[in-house]
Amino acid sequence: MHYVTKQTSSEIALNHFRSCLTEYEQEEIIDYTEVWFLGQDSEKVEGIPGGGHNCGYDDDHGSYFKVLHDHIAYRFEVLEVIGKGSFGQVVKCLDHKTNELVAIKIIRNKKRFHHQALVELKILDALRRNDKENAYNVIHMKDYFYFRNHLCISFELLGLNLYELIKKNNFQGFSMALIRRFTYAILKCLQLLHREKIIHCDLKPENILLFQKGQGTIKVIDFGSSCYEHQRVYTYIQSRFYRSPEVILGHPYGMAIDMWSLGCILAELYSGYPLFPGENEGEQLACIMEVRNVYCTFSR
Ligand code: ATP
Repeated sequence: MHYVTKQTSSEIALNHFRSCLTEYEQEEIIDYTEVWFLGQDSEKVEGIPGGGHNCGYDDDHGSYFKVLHDHIAYRFEVLEVIGKGSFGQVVKCLDHKTNELVAIKIIRNKKRFHHQALVELKILDALRRNDKENAYNVIHMKDYFYFRNHLCISFELLGLNLYELIKKNNFQGFSMALIRRFTYAILKCLQLLHREKIIHCDLKPENILLFQKGQGTIKVIDFGSSCYEHQRVYTYIQSRFYRSPEVILGHPYGMAIDMWSLGCILAELYSGYPLFPGENEGEQLACIMEVRNVYCTFSR
């Protein structure tokens, strides 16, 4: 079996590897000026031009059927699914052009998610432009592109998230020295967001990932719910345990809601458990009030 081992053109790929491609791909590849990887050993979906469910590439919910070791855009090799959410999925890929591992967020092929992803792109672009020195501990987008009607965003690949780290540590809580390091790193991120008037809107341990290149360094991810302070759209935001009182009560909110989440996260890093583990919105408020009452009793 022959493989594409370096960049080639779609004409050469078609001439030499036609039998490795589905009929759909034989048409599709012509639009690609660079071909780095064909995924010839994978069990490809046989796309049906003009067929339903995005030519057979999507499920009922508009999520792309990812196939291990198949290509994305004739460049990336799908290695593993590393995250799933309402937006779509995140896959770990090998970039055959740069030989680097990357994370690719494949957005669901539905208008609402596509629209929100465009806001995410705008914010990611602003963060990248304003963090050229890579000093603010925010995820850096590498690129974005469309593949089979899905908006795809590629990112540097990061490691475990802080919830997984807490779990790995048997919910024991971390040392003050480590918590201080994480706090400083998250505050740097909030400093940049504050300067740019961006609200993250979903700060939580799952969205803070270890940065593989350094020890104890982290980056904040998931700007999928974020907005500019003057362009707020949603009232139902933040994950419940980290949701601020003003959001629960439906009041106007601002950048301070991320600081609330940070406070909740820090307590969790210390104790190993969520500070306000409400099972619903009412209980969430009750949890907050309970702690505040204890505080009032102490301070009287
Ligand atoms: P959620 O619905 O949980 O808020 P989301 O739908 O907005 O998530 P992300 O949080 O951006 O999507 O990504 C989902 C998961 O994919 C993350 O929790 C993380 O485990 C993984 N992930 C995302 N980006 C990266 C990355 N750059 N490196 C490694 N893993 C990542």
